[in-house]
Amino acid sequence: MATLSPEQTMLPAVRSFLSSTKQLLIDGEWVDAADGRTFATINPATEEELAQVAQGSATDVDRAVASARRAFEAGSPWSRMTPRERSHLLWRIGDLIDAHAEELAQLESLDNGKRVSSAAGDVSVAAELFRYFAGWATKMEGTSIPMSVPGKEFHAYTRREPIGVVAGIVPWNFPLTMACFKVVPAITAGNTVVLKPAEQTPLTALRLGELLLEAGLPAGVVNVVPGYGDTGAALVDHPDVDKVAFTGSTEVGKKIAAGASRNLKKVSLELGGKAPNIVFADADLDAAVAGAALGGYFNEGQCCVNGSRLYVQRAVFDQVVDGVAAAARAMKVGDGFDPSADMGPLVSAEQHEKVLGYIRGATEAGAVLTAGSAERARDRGYFVDPTLITSVTEQMAVQTDEIFGPVITAIPFDTEDEVVAAANNTVYGLAAGVWSRDLGTAHRVGAKLRAGTVWLNTWHADDVVLPRGGYKQSGWGRELGSFGLDDYTELKTVIAELR
Ligand code: NAD
Repeated sequence: MATLSPEQTMLPAVRSFLSSTKQLLIDGEWVDAADGRTFATINPATEEELAQVAQGSATDVDRAVASARRAFEAGSPWSRMTPRERSHLLWRIGDLIDAHAEELAQLESLDNGKRVSSAAGDVSVAAELFRYFAGWATKMEGTSIPMSVPGKEFHAYTRREPIGVVAGIVPWNFPLTMACFKVVPAITAGNTVVLKPAEQTPLTALRLGELLLEAGLPAGVVNVVPGYGDTGAALVDHPDVDKVAFTGSTEVGKKIAAGASRNLKKVSLELGGKAPNIVFADADLDAAVAGAALGGYFNEGQCCVNGSRLYVQRAVFDQVVDGVAAAARAMKVGDGFDPSADMGPLVSAEQHEKVLGYIRGATEAGAVLTAGSAERARDRGYFVDPTLITSVTEQMAVQTDEIFGPVITAIPFDTEDEVVAAANNTVYGLAAGVWSRDLGTAHRVGAKLRAGTVWLNTWHADDVVLPRGGYKQSGWGRELGSFGLDDYTELKTVIAELR
């Protein structure tokens, strides 16, 4: 059967959305950038322009922050909304996302490159996130705490209050879900938001903005200002932003921490990773091979919790490497709209060149390409074949740096102590995994790994109810679950003397 081109299967709603220049969402209105500037967003499968998008400047950031501040202030429609009303509104938004799921999945695929089926999974996570946090809106409780002051009586209690104006700055690898990871807990707690999507993938955040208005979110509660790093930096520098919630690279995370320190705004950081995936000889090897391939190649390898460093116990090293290489070779790279494709293109020309550069560098340093290639996988589009590299040393850049592409390195090990030391020998600490049939080994090694998420005999198993975040230079704070909600609140202690 011939593969349909995107034009043949694109929904009319998607075609219509792409037919106009996309504007900024400020104070409930769609507006041009103050200086009229726009930028192109590109389809990474075809390298063609999808749409022009308004590019927010510092002036637009000012307008958006002022709008978010007005929406937050006492007496505003948003501040007067009861927790139950907020809860119902969040649930409604989740349903609206579901009602537009196919359209959002197509938009995401076009903008990011990922397969439509994969984007559909992201969209359902976004909808579920609204519904999960809808439950929390009515459960943000304080505690009453007994005090011990001789001769006096007090009633002391705590309240959870919103922080204020939150700047959400997000990357391109899961554009809609990353936007929702910031927006949903922030508004659940009663904050207001200025969202800056990544310059590579602004479209679903803008479509989300339309759906938020349609659901009845008051004007100014969520503003969307696309742009490049300078737009994000203007938010970080802004004196009236109370918190920056950032997901992105460790390099930019450090700039954000430095920028935010000027007025000590709150900061949460979800940063890079270089996750070790450890396979012991007693593991279910079929499951471990499938898990290693999923861990390394899911989302075109553009995943912060990507299992990019595979460590395999020497007795089964060849068997596991052969299995992962076979899985890599069997994967079909193709357009995100091609239902038979297993992997889409990388997000951008820059990312494409960066990933191929790492593969080339590894071969030049003496590593072996067991599967994959250092050449572009197709003449047009930012495609890279899933790649497995062996004969790697711990010093090679391919082993130390976050590549953010479909590249796995494999190294053999002999003892538990040796592999734990190697696994932890990184500045990152986002995720890690262990494969062993011995429960003692799995849990013992899992406890020794310095990472915010540890998978035992699985990879990428996830749920919005679970907290996530990084040890070491992989971040500050935890996102999602009840822990994630705490990060969007201030804790107030109230002490009343009872006379
Ligand atoms: P990036 O850091 O280059 O950009 C992320 C966002 O920050 C973009 O919106 C960008 O425009 C903005 N930005 C860039 N410079 C800025 C500045 N000086 N001030 C403020 N904002 C600025 O990251 P990326 O390349 O878009 O995404 C890939 C990175 O994101 C990887 O390192 C990956 O590990 C990380 N990531 C982490 C998680 C997590 O949960 N820990 C999830 C997804 C991605």
